[in-house]
Amino acid sequence: MGQEQQDGEEYLFKIVLIGDSAVGKSNLLSRFARNEFDSNSKATIGVEFQTQAVEIDGKEVKAQIWDTAGQERFRAVTSAYYRGAVGALVVYDITRRSSFDSVKRWLDELSIHCDTAVARMLVGNKCDLENIRDVSTEEGKSLAEEEGLFFMETSALDATNVQTAFEIVIREIHNNISRKVL
Ligand code: GDP
Ligand code: MG
Repeated sequence: MGQEQQDGEEYLFKIVLIGDSAVGKSNLLSRFARNEFDSNSKATIGVEFQTQAVEIDGKEVKAQIWDTAGQERFRAVTSAYYRGAVGALVVYDITRRSSFDSVKRWLDELSIHCDTAVARMLVGNKCDLENIRDVSTEEGKSLAEEEGLFFMETSALDATNVQTAFEIVIREIHNNISRKVL
């Protein structure tokens, strides 16, 4: 899983969502996969994934996007969760600095379990909550630059940049596979 399936023109990419609890991972996924937002979403129970087809350069690719088991403490996300991932969205909440401070530890976790060529995007979610922002856009940007990540601020609530964030990661995976670095 996670590697491209070369039966005909079909590709399947495994992408994982990581980041502290309640940053909006499940809602980013439901916004992307079903264009839905759930304001009462409870902590995610059990590992779940959604498969979403995306067209890249006229070719259909399928992204299998994994959402955590609601056990988003360090080391509690198991290696099975990361296994075979070729892309990752590392999510924090722009209104909660502690979730931004956790990003480096999530990146460490990712590097323990996955190849360094994994396409990685830093996602500052809840950008609709500008009035209670706790992490500036510049801070997000400079951390992303330091760590060599793509960066985007999103809102699962109003759909800002959600599609774009996933598509950038999927496109990068596609490029990595074409260049055979993955
Ligand atoms: P997860 O634990 O990372 O999967 O986070 P959830 O997707 O369950 O979201 C946690 C809480 O944040 C829920 O109450 C959501 O309604 C809320 N939430 C998620 N994304 C956004 C967003 O973009 N904007 C706002 N205002 N709230 C959000
Ligand atoms: Mg969740």
